[in-house]
Amino acid sequence: MIQESCLICEGETSAQHANIVPFLIERCGFDTGATKSRYCAECAFVFFERRLTALEARRLYANYRQDEYNRMRVRVEPSYASFIPIFDDPSSGYYQTRVDDYLRALSFYPELFLVRRVLDFGGDGSLPKKLLPGAIVEYDDLSAGKTARDGPYDLIFASQVFEHLSAPRDELARIYDLMDENGVLFIDIPIEYQGPIAKAWHQHAQLGGSLVNMHEHINHFSAQSVVNLLRCIELLPFFQMVTRSPKLGITLAARKGSRLNGAYLSFFG
Ligand SMILES: [Zn+2]
Repeated sequence: MIQESCLICEGETSAQHANIVPFLIERCGFDTGATKSRYCAECAFVFFERRLTALEARRLYANYRQDEYNRMRVRVEPSYASFIPIFDDPSSGYYQTRVDDYLRALSFYPELFLVRRVLDFGGDGSLPKKLLPGAIVEYDDLSAGKTARDGPYDLIFASQVFEHLSAPRDELARIYDLMDENGVLFIDIPIEYQGPIAKAWHQHAQLGGSLVNMHEHINHFSAQSVVNLLRCIELLPFFQMVTRSPKLGITLAARKGSRLNGAYLSFFG
């Protein structure tokens, strides 16, 4: 399953050689370790042209970060062992800093703390429950399963999800349909490079790095590319912020004409 044109704007892309890491080859059952890393200058967006089929995605994310996943990953990537206790512990500093920074982002819009119906897309509901203890949280996730129904949701939370998705535009359109007309999308993506993504893409070709080594993150967004993706389906971003550690780019967006947009869209022209 190969994608050469930009996943966001469908425009032309530049390509350079990339490797698929051994864990992904084994877990998904790929028959090659070679692919290409593609860059769209229009969107400031990098992605790997080898996409995951639905079957490969299920193989990768079924029982994600559970015992069997951990055993397989440590066998291929011994250094992953040091991350397991951090990911397993909801009170670890990793989670606490992340939660604190999410609260900081939400606190710019105190009305968001009053939302009632929340969808955790690509999560198990635990993070939004921590952030919004008064809300009813449903979830839809390849690993955790699905409690979500048809919406509409006041807030859709998509934390560290879109970097994993083979068809991010289609998935975004799907959750857009579940949003209340005054609903808000909270999306955050990891930032795994220094400086502008164009420069990092060339540097990684020389030095190695996540932009030329395909792992679970098959899309690498910049702040601009998140905005472009959201605009494809008429979601308008009104807030962006970068968290401390891990470095995550948070974007808040709402439908055209919604209450929040009227007040805040001037930030983005
Ligand atoms: Zn593009």
